This record gives sequence, structure tokens and C-alpha cells, in this order.
Amino acid sequence: MPRRCSVCDHASRDEVDRALVAGESFRDIAGRFAGLTPASIHRHRGTHLAAIVRKARDSEDAARAESVLDQVRSLHARTLRILAAAEAEGDASTALRALREARGGLVLLAKLLGELDEAPTVNVSLDSGWPALRTAILSALEPYPEARGAVAQALADGHAS
Ligand SMILES: [Zn+2]
Repeated sequence: MPRRCSVCDHASRDEVDRALVAGESFRDIAGRFAGLTPASIHRHRGTHLAAIVRKARDSEDAARAESVLDQVRSLHARTLRILAAAEAEGDASTALRALREARGGLVLLAKLLGELDEAPTVNVSLDSGWPALRTAILSALEPYPEARGAVAQALADGHAS
């Protein structure tokens, strides 16, 4: 039977870990938590704490990365709402500006996702999102042939660049 770690099994394990991370001495920590000895805390720090801290840091990075993505996503969603409103009002120039923003947002999202995955998926991500968006925009503009023509032209120009 493997020997259990009295710190890992301890009811106050999180507090012990925090005290270790804060740099408290083994003796002080052992004095504060019943059933622990300086030696058991020392062993726990050496064999278990590093992995715990590493895991916490990884998840923090992931959370930070997620929050950046969330911000870009929410900006993108706002742009799409502006675009929809502009289309509903037949405001072609605002629609065009929103369209450029939306395109920029998609490119940025694709870049972020590509970088986070560390794989060359930028074109795939962009291509899977863009045609659907383009189709939706052009069909939404059908009641406004003039705006639709201008948007289609802008899309063609933008896509070539
Ligand atoms: Zn342990």
C-alpha cells in the first residue's frame, strides 16, 4: 500500500498549501494544523506542491486567454448587432463600416484562436465563419439592392486584399 501524504489527506490542505506558497515555515504551519509535522509538510512541499502550483498557473493562463477571447467575441457580437440595426434602417454607410469591423473582428478572433492552439488554423477558422456571415449579410440586404451592391463590391475588394 502506498504511503499516504498527511498533508494531501488533511481537511485543511488548501490552507496548508496557501501557507507554503506564502513562505511560512514548516514549523509554524505544523503548529497551526492538527496532525501535521514539519517533516510531513516538508515532504509534501517537495513532492506535491510544485505540481499543484504549476497546475494553478496553467489554469490562470487559460482563464486569462479565455477572457481576452471573450472580449473579442463580445465586441464582435456588438458589431454584428450594429450591422443588423443599420441594415434594418437601410443605413448603407453604417452597415458598410460595421461590416469592415465585423470582418476585422473575425480575423482577430481567428488569429487569437490560431495562436492559442499553436497550429496554423487561421485560414480554416476564418473560412468557416466568413462565408456564413457574408451570405447572411447579403441576404439581409436584399430589400436594399443599392446597398447590397455596394456591400458585395466592398466584400469583393476586401477579400482580394
Ligand atoms: Zn502531499
